[in-house]
Amino acid sequence: MSTALPAGSTIGIIGGGQLGRMLAMAAARLGYRTVVLEPQGDCPAAQVANRQIIAAYDDAYGLAELSRESDVVTYEFENVPVASAKALAADVPVFPPAKALEVSQDRVAEKAFLNGIGISTADYRPVDNDRQLTDALKEFSGAGILKTRRMGYDGKGQRAFDKIGGDDVSGTFASMGAVPLILEAFVAFEREISVIAARGRDGSLAAYDPAENIHRAGILHTSTVPAKLKAATAQAARDAAFAILEALDYVGVIGVEFFAAKDGRLLVNEIAPRVHNSGHWTEAACGISQFEQHIRAIAGLPLGTTARHSNCVMENLIGNDVARAEALLAEPDVVLHLYGKAEARAGRKMGHFTRLKRRR
Ligand code: AMP
Repeated sequence: MSTALPAGSTIGIIGGGQLGRMLAMAAARLGYRTVVLEPQGDCPAAQVANRQIIAAYDDAYGLAELSRESDVVTYEFENVPVASAKALAADVPVFPPAKALEVSQDRVAEKAFLNGIGISTADYRPVDNDRQLTDALKEFSGAGILKTRRMGYDGKGQRAFDKIGGDDVSGTFASMGAVPLILEAFVAFEREISVIAARGRDGSLAAYDPAENIHRAGILHTSTVPAKLKAATAQAARDAAFAILEALDYVGVIGVEFFAAKDGRLLVNEIAPRVHNSGHWTEAACGISQFEQHIRAIAGLPLGTTARHSNCVMENLIGNDVARAEALLAEPDVVLHLYGKAEARAGRKMGHFTRLKRRR
């Protein structure tokens, strides 16, 4: 007998941003209802979901209502409180598992986990004061990237050191907010790539082709597929993503970001236990998008094919870039997606488009 979630069931989504919106749209296409838990009213996801519960991510009443309404719960961002995911999991299946949140919320725990399963990362040192920063910089010959251990995204909470010597860092710990930090050795990378992979409730695995990512001011600018990679490197990236999925007993889609270093090493930068911005191209260049793949996985349905019918470039529309929308719609082979955000603030992701380069 199938254990798949029957059509008409309700999927709970924690987080109301554009990723939640695209998950809700994919869920609707497979016949599911969605309820979104998000404190911000009229959020991008709630505009397309069946219902929004307006409550904080750690609000006991909101969580209780989400669990009552949902047949399965998922999330669209990695900073969901672990306690919330664990509390929900007592009543309703929660995918991906809370362990994936624990690992990805702390850059030190994440690297320790990855290294523990044989996956290479940048060398790193935890930093909890200026003295430790001085020592760690000395070990890394003065070059490194200092990051907050928790709650960092889109390059926020980061500072680069470039061989400035180990003695003029006083005040840095305080200036970073006096929170736990990590110093990562600087990786001279040739390119940044990412793999979007999935694991089903039955343990089946699937991965899309790696994308090559360009960041601007710490925010993803473009994802190009195929990435310029040797076949063996692309396979190594897929294998690493699969190893992570299995080690976490994961269900759902994961985004794994890598540095392809100039010296030939493939290092994981970070993992995102959710659908990922660098996988948006899949909605335009593949029959089954990362969003549908995630819904299939958590609903216990068979995973879909990850085959790609076109080469493509996905580009984010940040802030006022959104003014390009109408002109982009006039272009053949452009697939546009807007997120329903009223105000185009600087640095805000307003939408994206994928330009298909047809070839098959
Ligand atoms: P993150 O928030 O960790 O994804 O970092 C944002 C961006 O900063 C990455 O996409 C890289 O372009 C750059 N970066 C982060 N960590 C390192 C590192 N250890 N070495 C070189 N570049 C890095």
